[in-house]
Amino acid sequence: MARRSLSFQKVQAWCRRTNGDWALGKILSTSGVESVISLPEGEVLRLSTESLLPANPEILDGVDDLMQLSYLNEPSVLYNLQDRYSQDKIYTKAGPVLVAINPFKEVQLYGNDYIEAYRRKAGDNPHVYAIADTAIREMARDEVNQSIIISGESGAGKTETAKIAMQYLAAVGGGSGIEYEILQTNPILEAFGNAKTSRNDNSSRFGKLIEIHFSTTGKISGAKIQTFLLEKSRVVQCAIGERSYHIFYQLCAGASLSLREKLNLRKADEYKYLKQSNCYSIVGVDDAERFHTVLEAMNIVHISKEDQDNVFAMLAAVLWLGNISFSVIDNENHVEVVADEGAHTVAKLIGCNIGDLKLALSTRKMKVGHDNIVQKLNLSQAIDTRDALAKSLYASLFEWLVEQINKSLAVGKRRTGRSISILDIYGFESFDKNSFEQFCINYANERLQQHFNRHLFKLEQDEYIQDGIDWAKVDFEDNQDCLYLFEKKPLGLLSLLDEESTFPNGTDLTFANKLKQHLNSNPCFRGERGKAFTVHHYAGEVAYDTSGFLEKNRDLLHMDSIQLLASCKSHLPPIFASKMLAQSANVASNPYRSSAADSQRLSVATKFKGQLFQLMQRLENTTPHFIRCIKPNNLQLPAIYEQGLVLQQLRCCGVLEVVRISRSGYPTRMSHQKFARRYGFLLLENIASQDPLSVSVAILQQFNILPEMYQVGYTKLFFRTGQIGALEDTRNRTL
Ligand code: ADP
Ligand code: MG
Repeated sequence: MARRSLSFQKVQAWCRRTNGDWALGKILSTSGVESVISLPEGEVLRLSTESLLPANPEILDGVDDLMQLSYLNEPSVLYNLQDRYSQDKIYTKAGPVLVAINPFKEVQLYGNDYIEAYRRKAGDNPHVYAIADTAIREMARDEVNQSIIISGESGAGKTETAKIAMQYLAAVGGGSGIEYEILQTNPILEAFGNAKTSRNDNSSRFGKLIEIHFSTTGKISGAKIQTFLLEKSRVVQCAIGERSYHIFYQLCAGASLSLREKLNLRKADEYKYLKQSNCYSIVGVDDAERFHTVLEAMNIVHISKEDQDNVFAMLAAVLWLGNISFSVIDNENHVEVVADEGAHTVAKLIGCNIGDLKLALSTRKMKVGHDNIVQKLNLSQAIDTRDALAKSLYASLFEWLVEQINKSLAVGKRRTGRSISILDIYGFESFDKNSFEQFCINYANERLQQHFNRHLFKLEQDEYIQDGIDWAKVDFEDNQDCLYLFEKKPLGLLSLLDEESTFPNGTDLTFANKLKQHLNSNPCFRGERGKAFTVHHYAGEVAYDTSGFLEKNRDLLHMDSIQLLASCKSHLPPIFASKMLAQSANVASNPYRSSAADSQRLSVATKFKGQLFQLMQRLENTTPHFIRCIKPNNLQLPAIYEQGLVLQQLRCCGVLEVVRISRSGYPTRMSHQKFARRYGFLLLENIASQDPLSVSVAILQQFNILPEMYQVGYTKLFFRTGQIGALEDTRNRTL
């Protein structure tokens, strides 16, 4: 950072306390290199003058756009956000980006009155509603699809923010009734895809894009949901104090007596999958009540009673699968399924023969050379097979549900209108132990960050330069190196992972060694001891432990299990099986296959990468609106604002750079033609030349737009923030 000279008249300045926090102090005296500062609590510090940062005049306290700050240093931004936060003003603009700080309590900012105010443009504070409103207006004005991209750490408030945006769109674009259905998808997807984690009692364990379609008259005509990478390992395994997916507890607590009997349902603590983490309830949440909300929502999105029963049977089957146990039958540790209540109930629920179930879980058909053999499984193989079946059942169920919902919300053939997409995707994650899930999530965040950078920095600058605008470049943190590290072929993290996953003898250790061998020269990569490696992400360093990487990436469900599902008499398992078979069509015909055939299926990482590319492509064709959610403390408590934690998140998502670039730039732009067409009729006097540029210049003059507030490019006009507002208002009044 450039050296700042502090004026002597300036009485206030930011100084660092010994604990690292910033405090606003009074300068008592300055003698060259040293200054004496008094802090609010009376403490007096002697600090080097150079370490002080200038404070903004009081009149700028709590401004609603960080762009208005005279000094844009970190403490000023932190203080401004904190000042607002303490008054429940949780939203602040950072140039074009909306910053939302999680209040962890109910704040009086939502509901019909507020919606109405923003709709009439009478709401002047930054708000999610304002963002949603802008999206609707720009969709209509520019005839371009829009997107609202919400990011932030786990627990920062993304999912709540997405719902608030949906509420606004539903209220403003409602009328056909489909908006109620769209809102009711939330309780369903949250029940099946959210869980209590150590960071968030309602943590989304999948990414979600919902595309809301509008007719040409501005009414919502339908929607489409796409989900990403459900964390299915949670079904069979979760950490102490966390929970599996909400729906399991809801079902156990809320099912009617008859459903309970039909599914042979027990209390949550009688299921091994739920028992292992020793956590059954969430403070302030009534699972039984939630279950009824989900039932109601399923009715609204037209999931038939029969299908609902099918869904619950699958959930119960997953729970009972976890209770299936094995007995060792020989001294080679081979096992047999114990034919107890667990096994019998699973067979009944999925509709298969108990003998077939026992075989599928304890043996494997294989092709060795030209011979077909049946291999007995040992205990750990059998447990893996059982767990893989449980995970697949659950993931298939989730996918199937999303499909049903999409059918119900389908826009139909007349897709003439435009859409607004809302993206709610897990933010950057860095834990003590980071595994394959964090690896994928953080990769996705690198991609999203690049999209953000491209839009707010790169495209912006490129556009100025192309249009001949005078522009001093603003540096930004480019994350291209890190993306190369992931995506480079054949020597990138993803390629090497896939390659190792197809080797029969590949292990997590050989994978880690390969990474070290090939990637050590990449500045974003560092090999660690044993099976670990570190990636330097845009948001910080993350150390990954490769344990389980290969297995999670292969995500094998053995053909024996798929065939078992295909043979089931109940409704859903055969549907799931045919989907799985379609993914590995080439091996479907032969039940006995070599293990090499397994590799024909797309790996999890490759599939995810494909989805991500598709997502980015879709987003590229929209006008993006960014919301950055910030978590002010890790305790999920109101009124606690931890400076260090907030600062780290602000840095991670480039908020400060965005403000800097927006302040010095011209974020609003319009082609000469469009500008002339849009506002030309407001001209009071006829002008000699009708070419768009002359008309545009005449408009600018008539409206007294100051020369420093705009620039005329070769093809477009560029405006500083807020300049076009007056023109729009006049236009709207005149129309
Ligand atoms: P994320 O999706 O980013 O992980 P969530 O949206 O689930 O985070 O938010 C976590 C919790 O924070 C919510 O369950 C809720 O209690 C609280 N929260 C978030 N946003 C708001 C808000 N605008 N008003 C009130 N509480 C909120
Ligand atoms: Mg969430």
